[in-house]
Amino acid sequence: MSANAITGWLIVLAGALCSAGGRVALGQVEYSVTVDLPPEYKAAEPVIRANIEAAARAWSDFVDAKPCRVEITLHLDRAASSGRGSGRSAVSVRLGDEKHAGLLVSEQGWAGMMRTGKDPNGEKADLEVIFEPDYFKTLWWDPRPDLRTDRVPSGKLDAYSVVLHEFGHALAFNGWMDPKTGQIPGEFVSSYDRHVRYDGKNFFFVGPQAVKLWGKPIPLARTNNNYHHVCETPTGRDALLKVDLMNGIVMQYGQRYYITLLDLAILHDCGIPMKPIKDTRTAKDDNPVRPAERASAASAGRAGATRNR
Ligand SMILES: [Zn+2]
Repeated sequence: MSANAITGWLIVLAGALCSAGGRVALGQVEYSVTVDLPPEYKAAEPVIRANIEAAARAWSDFVDAKPCRVEITLHLDRAASSGRGSGRSAVSVRLGDEKHAGLLVSEQGWAGMMRTGKDPNGEKADLEVIFEPDYFKTLWWDPRPDLRTDRVPSGKLDAYSVVLHEFGHALAFNGWMDPKTGQIPGEFVSSYDRHVRYDGKNFFFVGPQAVKLWGKPIPLARTNNNYHHVCETPTGRDALLKVDLMNGIVMQYGQRYYITLLDLAILHDCGIPMKPIKDTRTAKDDNPVRPAERASAASAGRAGATRNR
């Protein structure tokens, strides 16, 4: 085979891959992940980036999203809140013209991007994940985040689960109520806040989809964490909430957490356009704190979209 023939063959192959990638990318949410870590994490960076992207995609696979490109950054900060980690959308955006009790409703920037396909802050990062350096050392990064089948070491936190939790905040579990008084300080409520009721002591999520699944208002955290989390007192039936990805009690070492049916119902209530959700509960077991099954179409799209990166 001549050099020219080889070159020609390579071009044809590249063209075939691009067209396949282009076709799959339609309607997809694309991610680019930038990590800013000390040199000792250099070798681990590809795996860390893969975990972050997989966790973001785990959420967006449930969303009936317009095509968009989401920039994610991760860095360490000694002053990170309460010696732990945090995650957020860099900006929030108005949710159409919607109002609640005379206040303007805003949603998290990532949710807005998937709804409209528009990037509210251009080239700047859309999602930010920040870890306190000592906390970061307790994380175990899954070597195969697409599978999540390797054993999580018993003395480590599953980083994928932690990032998945933080991305829950970046997508919807966030707001501006005073976590002690329930007061709204400004003229905005979040798409989450408008479904939160404060009874003078405790916070509850009262969105219709979530209440239908749970059977009554969902108790939100107040003591160990803020109302952006489910579960305040893990007793009786509320103990089921203790293992939810978005629980405000604790994330256990050596355990994986998954997006649950209840989490998705809360996203639905927050006005995020969702794909049809497969409810796998049986008549005997009505616990909605169980991993939600992804639609098979979403899985196929994910596999195809990942191939070309
Ligand atoms: Zn949290």
